[in-house]
Amino acid sequence: MGIYSVAVDGPAGSGKSTVAKLIAKELGIVYIDTGAMYRAVALYCINNGIDTKNEEAVSGILDSIDMDIKAENGGQRIYLSGIDVTDDVRSQKAGAGASDVAVIGSVRQKLVNIQRSLAKGMSVIMDGRDIGTNVLTDADVKIYLSASADERAKRRCGELKKLGLEYDFELVKSQIIQRDKNDSERALNPLRKAEDAIEVDTTSMNIDEVKDTIIKIIKEKAGIG
Ligand code: C5P
Repeated sequence: MGIYSVAVDGPAGSGKSTVAKLIAKELGIVYIDTGAMYRAVALYCINNGIDTKNEEAVSGILDSIDMDIKAENGGQRIYLSGIDVTDDVRSQKAGAGASDVAVIGSVRQKLVNIQRSLAKGMSVIMDGRDIGTNVLTDADVKIYLSASADERAKRRCGELKKLGLEYDFELVKSQIIQRDKNDSERALNPLRKAEDAIEVDTTSMNIDEVKDTIIKIIKEKAGIG
């Protein structure tokens, strides 16, 4: 089997990154987390006193953002000006800011260019909101992951707890619902299932079940295994 690509889209907390990382490891392909890139732009703005909702200000500083992405054993590390911000971008603040900057055309253009060039010439699994519909429209396999808002909030709280970050369940849930709204109602490349994507509802599945279901689909669709 030659080079193949897998696009995984879905709302916040649907388990995309956890499962994509496991699949990348198991299949020996590269994992690309596009959400981390929007989060890094937001983190840069927050750290530099720029309002993530201010389109003009965010567009104005885009060229000064020095972002670097490195694949690492089924995972991805992300750097801003050489500093590893992989853990810092997971905060709720960076997540909410990411959803703000993600509506800005110049931000999307910059990040989509990076994403497409990272995916060139190798087998990848890339997760985000617009991978199947925009970034990798020719992906060999397209998956759309869904789960109830309650379940997704529970998972996000689990992640935050693991990182030692503070959280409040109701706040996390309301932020997830707000983020779904922003992501699916925005004009540019909104979150939606590609016509040729296979939907996997993960609400009552554990992570291994989700992983095995998707690997089975990949093997069938990409003709590997
Ligand atoms: O997936 P994650 O929660 O890390 O993504 C953070 C935010 O980045 C999303 O809520 C969305 O607004 C934005 N995003 C996007 N397109 C992508 C990936 C993420 O607009 N491909």
